[in-house]
Amino acid sequence: MPRILDGVAIAAAIKQEVAEEASALAARGIRPGLAAVLVGNVAASEIYVRNKVQTCADLGIFSELITPPATVTTEEMLDLVAALNSRDEIDGILIQLPLPAHVDTKALLDAIDPAKDVDGFHPVNAGRLQAGRSALVPCTPAGIIEILKRSNIPIAGQHAVVVGRSDIVGKPVAMLLLNQNATVTICHSKTRNLGEITRQADILVAAIGRPGFITAEMVKPGATIIDVGINRITNRADFDRFFLGDAKREATFTKRGSALVGDVHPKAFELAGAYTPVPGGVGPLTIAMLMANTVRAAKMRRGI
Ligand code: NDP
Repeated sequence: MPRILDGVAIAAAIKQEVAEEASALAARGIRPGLAAVLVGNVAASEIYVRNKVQTCADLGIFSELITPPATVTTEEMLDLVAALNSRDEIDGILIQLPLPAHVDTKALLDAIDPAKDVDGFHPVNAGRLQAGRSALVPCTPAGIIEILKRSNIPIAGQHAVVVGRSDIVGKPVAMLLLNQNATVTICHSKTRNLGEITRQADILVAAIGRPGFITAEMVKPGATIIDVGINRITNRADFDRFFLGDAKREATFTKRGSALVGDVHPKAFELAGAYTPVPGGVGPLTIAMLMANTVRAAKMRRGI
């Protein structure tokens, strides 16, 4: 039986550690602070941001939710970022993506002070990561490394194959794995013979955004599979394609009319040595690492 890597439990352990660090800082009169900027009324983004704000409160991190209207201009957002950059009680700035199409997302992310860039998206932090220097690292990739380390899955010398090359997940996780001495192959939509490559993976990271894309034939038996994908399926044919015979998911699907599936087909997990489930695998680590980054930024800014 493959081992299920329990992201909920690992995230809880990290959050506990962050709460302890926040309380040690509080004893020195330092209160880490996160500003979360949520533009407009995108329902999914609202849920994510409220979750982040609530987790801050749970862990003893100050947070401030700023909610500009969907009509906000790039200039107004740049002014907001400049103001947050200059406020000493703000250690981390999070701009919830996606932004409305008329707002220049790259300009905004570039305007964030790299020392407050708790999402790790600023080119300075991306460069520092690539140069193997200490950096604020994107949360989901950092969480993946935590899952592997805390589950005692060796990384050094392993062949890690990352499918997906986004700036948010694929590229940074590949870099982190390389920094941990894995032999890393990055695949993307133009990769030829993808299955041949993924079948060589000791550690296979799927960050594609296509439900059940990695099938059993693409997996080496015994591999560790990290499924980053979060895809919502709403029709019965798709549900049956992935989860036919899974009574627990069937009950949820019937009740909610939707189910979550990762980028890896559930049948492929059966071959794995260990894998992260969806939900309950990588997802919970993203918020935990955001909290860890906020405390880290607070310490780094004060030279602690
Ligand atoms: P992007 O859409 O930015 O990137 C997807 C990547 O997959 C691209 O590099 C693309 O290649 C590659 N790809 C697409 N189709 C294929 C194909 N047929 N064969 C090989 N590669 C392909 O997505 P993200 O990186 O932002 O997210 C990936 C997934 O992870 C999504 O499901 C997202 O919801 C989830 N996610 C989960 C998080 C969590 O907290 N668990 C956090 C962030 C994301 P190319 O570059 O050539 O186009």
